[in-house]
Amino acid sequence: MDYPGNLFVVSAPSGAGKSSLVKALMELDARVQPSVSHTTRAPRGQEKHGREYFFASEQEFDAMVEANGFVEWANVHGRRYGTSRKAIEERVAQGADVVLEIDYQGALQVKQVFKNAVLIFILPPSWDELRSRLERRGEDAADVIDLRLKNAAQEMGEACKFDFVIINEVFERALFDLKTIVHAQRLKYAAQRRARAETFESLNIP
Ligand code: 5GP
Repeated sequence: MDYPGNLFVVSAPSGAGKSSLVKALMELDARVQPSVSHTTRAPRGQEKHGREYFFASEQEFDAMVEANGFVEWANVHGRRYGTSRKAIEERVAQGADVVLEIDYQGALQVKQVFKNAVLIFILPPSWDELRSRLERRGEDAADVIDLRLKNAAQEMGEACKFDFVIINEVFERALFDLKTIVHAQRLKYAAQRRARAETFESLNIP
């Protein structure tokens, strides 16, 4: 499927810093918009329906799967998460850049549908650092942290299927890397041809 906007898909094991990086990117770059996923998990803390997620019952989720309402969906840590067609198709068709923060299974499904999607994997600098970030976060009990680390080993094994890898050792450096990927995407011939049509025409470039 061809479309004027860019689709960026960011995946990472839990604790690698994916959400903070994507949030910082969107604060710096108003052209990058988030996609709000559906999930069957319950809201946490201050989360609001329609902002962090669309919270759905198992039945509502089933109905959307059946109606082919998802571009991708996957089981993550025992709950279902999905990206609705509505969340992205219209916006990329209008030329927006949309960023999806989803797990690797979903990212690989998106690439099947949107061949030009840019898949970015965020890695931690080391196992020790990943563990200490999960511990510092203070959100999870020790057994949950062990499970997340075990899952991380498998998830990181999928990084080779992604287009880009960012190692999040120093936050500012990783953010720079992310901005660079976004910027490079906008400099591609097709993107420039669309964004700077007048320049191309004045230069007689078809
Ligand atoms: P959390 O419940 O902590 O917000 O997210 C848990 C995991 O689900 C994260 O790895 C997140 O990236 C992933 N996730 C969130 N939304 C989606 C989605 O729409 N599709 C897929 N495949 N994964 C998602």
